[in-house]
Amino acid sequence: MEPYIIDGKKISKDIKDELKKKVADYKAKGIEITLAVIQIGDDPASTVYVRNKKKACEYIGINSQSYELPGDTSEEELLELIDKLNNDSAVNGILVQLPVPDYIKPMNVINAISPEKDVDGFSPYSVGCLNLGVKGFLSCTPAGIVELLKRSNIEIDGQHCVIVGRSNIVGKPMASLMLNNNATVTITHSHTKNLKEICKTADILIVGLGQKGFITSEYVKEGAVVIDVGIHRDENNKLSGDVDYDDVAPHCSAITPVPGGVGPMTIAMLMYNCVKSAELTQV
Ligand code: NDP
Repeated sequence: MEPYIIDGKKISKDIKDELKKKVADYKAKGIEITLAVIQIGDDPASTVYVRNKKKACEYIGINSQSYELPGDTSEEELLELIDKLNNDSAVNGILVQLPVPDYIKPMNVINAISPEKDVDGFSPYSVGCLNLGVKGFLSCTPAGIVELLKRSNIEIDGQHCVIVGRSNIVGKPMASLMLNNNATVTITHSHTKNLKEICKTADILIVGLGQKGFITSEYVKEGAVVIDVGIHRDENNKLSGDVDYDDVAPHCSAITPVPGGVGPMTIAMLMYNCVKSAELTQV
């Protein structure tokens, strides 16, 4: 079977172009949108992520304020900066690039960001809204996956969705979001028994476990939709996912490639959240 290849690059570009148009309309009315991005230290992967977020802001017309703090910044100093940005009405979204250094508690940082500016959707308030099924900022990667499915005309309602992984940034919010979209959801993790058999019951299999090529065709029902969240970079800088693409693809009705699947969606949804943040307060 030739699967439909879900084109995350194209869909993320479509979303960014829609936002660009909206932002231009807001600018014409004198409304500016600003994202503050904080990075502590110079971890190379974080630097790349931050650079890509700034580039996306530039493309869409969102102002980005960059705070590159030294690697020995204390938690207190970081919280002071967040407090200042919370109180700055010109700032719509605040993003602290994770991971933070070991001596800083990520939950203290996430908790410090005002819920109205939590464009990553990681705060307990945002997570609570998601679980209650009420309006709030959605965690960007899971929100991006739902956009991929919807814009590819893949039915979610009534489908059995199996999620591999239960992290706070991928698996858990993904489960809530699919539930809110009327899927029947099974969430699995490293203690799950009979993982293969459970995955094989999925109409939609969403994989974010962090092990390169882990999911083979033995885990996939004939005709399933497979979404690969994993990102792994080899010594030649080649990207691959948690799914063994060549083995799995012939058995799917649709699949996301790595690169070019879920990856580009995360930043597009971050931009979406920034615009939404401005709309909540300024429009
Ligand atoms: P975590 O390490 O935080 O979580 C991994 C999850 O997978 C855990 O819940 C773990 O279970 C589960 N798991 C690990 N091994 C197995 C196994 N053998 N069988 C079943 N479950 C298993 O990872 P993240 O959620 O942060 O990331 C997952 C992947 O997604 C990574 O490759 C990451 O790079 C990628 N990622 C991609 C993003 C994107 O924009 N495309 C964004 C975020 C992440 P347990 O809880 O029991 O330990």
